[in-house]
Amino acid sequence: MKTTLANWGNYPPVATTATSFADTETLRHTFETANELIIRGNGRCYGDSSLSDRCVVSSLKFDKIVAFDTQNGILTCQAGVTLADVLDVIVPKGWFLPVTPGTKFITVGGAVASDVHGKNHHVEGSFGQHVLWMDVFTGRGEIVRCSPAEHADLFAATCGGMGLTGAILTVCFRLKKIQTAYIRQRQVKARNLQEIIALFEQYKHATYSMAWIDCLKSGDGFGRSIMMSGEHAAADQLAGVPADKHLQLPPKMKLTVPFHFPEFVLNNLSVRAFNFLYYHKNYRRVMDSTVPYDGFFYPLDAIHHWNRMYGRSGFVQYQFVLPPAASERGLTDILQRIGKKGWGSFLAVLKLFGKQESLISFPMEGYTLALDFPVRKGLFEFLDELDRVVLDYGGRLYLTKDARMKPEVFKAGYPRLQEFLDIVRTYNPEGKFASLQSKRLLAGL
Ligand SMILES: Cc1cc2nc3c(=O)[nH]c(=O)nc-3n(C[C@H](O)[C@H](O)[C@H](O)COP(=O)(O)OP(=O)(O)OC[C@H]3O[C@@H](n4cnc5c(N)ncnc54)[C@H](O)[C@@H]3O)c2cc1C
Repeated sequence: MKTTLANWGNYPPVATTATSFADTETLRHTFETANELIIRGNGRCYGDSSLSDRCVVSSLKFDKIVAFDTQNGILTCQAGVTLADVLDVIVPKGWFLPVTPGTKFITVGGAVASDVHGKNHHVEGSFGQHVLWMDVFTGRGEIVRCSPAEHADLFAATCGGMGLTGAILTVCFRLKKIQTAYIRQRQVKARNLQEIIALFEQYKHATYSMAWIDCLKSGDGFGRSIMMSGEHAAADQLAGVPADKHLQLPPKMKLTVPFHFPEFVLNNLSVRAFNFLYYHKNYRRVMDSTVPYDGFFYPLDAIHHWNRMYGRSGFVQYQFVLPPAASERGLTDILQRIGKKGWGSFLAVLKLFGKQESLISFPMEGYTLALDFPVRKGLFEFLDELDRVVLDYGGRLYLTKDARMKPEVFKAGYPRLQEFLDIVRTYNPEGKFASLQSKRLLAGL
């Protein structure tokens, strides 16, 4: 029986056969009976990366923690375990994720397949760089253990490879030591784009940094932003929290968006009003505080189903990265085009990436900006225009946020694509692992 599935952006919805596995025998059976399949973690990619109109296989029941070396901070788990579950186990023991995206409701398999980045990419790289080894059920029907040293080609093509080499089964990765579950956060206001870029340079040493940027402000305040940097708080920096609670978080209220907002709620005026209030809530230029890690890393997770805010037609997140030398000019160009169109985004997040040797992973040195756009008439034509600008400045788009990129844009942005495809063809020779996205982007390649 077919069911309708969509990922976080609610676009595109697709009718498909949905199934799951809790053990490798079940996965093998599905693999042998389906003529095409793709693994889905928690569906937190925004577009069609984990969708197929044939067979979508959920990993969420393949969710055991296999081993936790509390001395050395090494965790081995099945790919369907969520980062939220990992945090519940590791934080009380004084360990933290080496890299985390802006939501903890993703699976470890999804973290590897998208090779996710966090606010610390400029100093600690992407998730895959902390993986010691993993087992992959490849498109040849074999389970292959790979690492940077063993089947290194499979390892490289699976990190950021969007599930196209096969199903990631078990992942062993390194954690980082923490003394408390709190972050010392600094927020600094920047009056414009030049100032925020200068701030990122100034705070390059900070472990975590990111900025919210007002994408609709023009004139002197063009590119005004708030930068947030953070460090894990040491035990002696936690005044007021009893020592036996240093590795625990205070309980928090959960809010939910109960239904899809009507389309008129989000418009140019409401985004401008939100941006004004958000920028001015910081009444001082520099504000320091110590906050629970949850609020620092996952502010949006506190509001369940916030994606409904964008209405029934859904939305796309547009995330690109530009090389350092072109970043300021490219960001100016793109923000000006968005301002002229009046299609601002509540969420406009700027981050700095450090150097990364990638086969197919998204990060490369430079600035990355992520923006949400509700799906509406003319949007895809406008994003095609932005794609050309991104390519002109030597950048590329993030696959896990994509639902509409054209194959030529993908090809131009990922110079090692052919090498990646050769490895995919070795391990997935009949193309059995395929998604709507891979069929859209790889047609004819
Ligand atoms: C609010 C929010 C904030 C985010 N912030 C960031 C961020 O800061 N940085 C960032 O990098 N990303 C970010 N993301 C994107 C998210 O981290 C990735 O899309 C992640 O891959 C989603 O994981 P998932 O488990 O939900 O997998 P899905 O969304 O279901 O799948 C994502 C991809 O992984 C593949 N996949 C999943 N599991 C497996 C497996 N076991 N074996 C093989 N392939 C598999 C799928 O086929 C698909 O190609 C954010 C997403 C949201 C909703």
